Amino acid sequence: MTADDSEKFLTQCPDCGCRDLFIRKDFPQKLGLAIVVVAAIAFLALAAKRETFYLGAWVLVVAAAIDAILYAIVPKVTVCYRCRAEFRDRPINPEHEGFELAVGEKYRQHS
Ligand SMILES: [Zn+2]
Repeated sequence: MTADDSEKFLTQCPDCGCRDLFIRKDFPQKLGLAIVVVAAIAFLALAAKRETFYLGAWVLVVAAAIDAILYAIVPKVTVCYRCRAEFRDRPINPEHEGFELAVGEKYRQHS
């Protein structure tokens, strides 16, 4: 461990030594869900009337746009497959990819 160790991206989990790590968007799940729910309710209410149907469609478009913007601006975090520790302050290792179910399954059996 050197002083600038935290400046380097992770190649293995500092907590458990696991070499399988994945990248996850630090997306606020509840906020994302809230946007979807509100948009769905607004759409159903507006789409019920022929005159406001197009407004309902716009609500869906705007909600999708907000979701996309949120997704683009939220930071990425490195997550350990084994112990699920999250490392927000570390740079992203370009070799790491998003969560893969096959790898996740491998570790799920051990927990
Ligand atoms: Zn770990």
